[in-house]
Amino acid sequence: MKTGLLEAVVNELQIGVLVISDKKKLLYANPFFEKTFSVEGKPDGKNLSDVIKDKAVIEVIEKMLSSKGKQPQEITIQGRGSQILEARLVPFASDSGSRVLICFFHDVTEEKRVEAIKRDFVANVSHELRTPLASIKGYAETLLDGALEDKATLKNFLTIIDRHANRMTALIEDLLTLSMLESHQMPMSFESLDIKGLINSVIQGFEKQAKDKDIELIMNIGREIPKIMADKDRLEQVIVNLVDNAIKYTNKGTVRVLAEKSDDMLQVNVEDTGIGIPEKDIPRIFERFYRVDKGRSRELGGTGLGLAIVKHIIQGHNGKIWVKSQPGKGTTFSFTIPSFS
Ligand code: ADP
Repeated sequence: MKTGLLEAVVNELQIGVLVISDKKKLLYANPFFEKTFSVEGKPDGKNLSDVIKDKAVIEVIEKMLSSKGKQPQEITIQGRGSQILEARLVPFASDSGSRVLICFFHDVTEEKRVEAIKRDFVANVSHELRTPLASIKGYAETLLDGALEDKATLKNFLTIIDRHANRMTALIEDLLTLSMLESHQMPMSFESLDIKGLINSVIQGFEKQAKDKDIELIMNIGREIPKIMADKDRLEQVIVNLVDNAIKYTNKGTVRVLAEKSDDMLQVNVEDTGIGIPEKDIPRIFERFYRVDKGRSRELGGTGLGLAIVKHIIQGHNGKIWVKSQPGKGTTFSFTIPSFS
């Protein structure tokens, strides 16, 4: 290969490349390296620290040189979204016998982010399952240890065991739904949808729950509703989750479901007059297991997965979902779905 061509390739690489002489002088840095790290002036055979201003990089290079490149190293650059790079060192001997060391700096930020999400997810799932399981075990053991004799205690404990078992079931169901949505194993089947009929039937299903809390359930359907193609069961799950949350997190007042036309799209709002969501929590509210108040959510039978499922389904319909809220006043979740006509 011609030198010019090789240089063009190295210039375009989205990997940092450094060439260091066996006397630890810097011979070459490619544009990606210069862009990623603080570099002053040209390598031109200078000492590493004269050109590279990032102390962390110098330390990593020194470590690799002393271990002869056997151990890849990790560098985190703070301040630019915490970029993480993996550094590797490869000794190279040319035909003429001169030896150089080539360092490669590969951006692994995205890989690390995905790894962390997976790790957190497994930790969260284990924790969420262990909590109800510990309660079930505790109450069952107390009953076996003699509390069986007392009828009132027996009923009380069995009710608690039943509640925790239901929570575990809900959690496992939500986990399966989420995993199937994420791995596209739950193909959507789109059909022309009667949104008014769907909202009506969801509202009817919640009448008792709302009445028990003295909450007024209202449905408002605009006069001109755009036609949409949607997966009926999945969209029903979205509205059920949003109305369920609206009732759960409202102590008194109203929950209103509104469907109307917005820029040729269907927009559905689920509004409540409940406890609201603090501004700082809003950006994370659709994350798996993110809750404003863990204790409260669990007490109300929540799994912390409802909104993550909702977001997936809406995105699967090429729609958007967002939330506006005022703590103490109420919350409005809104989503849009493009019209097909
Ligand atoms: P959960 O099962 O905990 O309700 P979700 O994913 O459905 O899980 O919701 C995540 C969190 O968002 C809830 O724990 C709650 O803190 C907050 N939240 C959701 N809907 C509302 C609402 N209508 N009003 C206030 N907070 C809400």
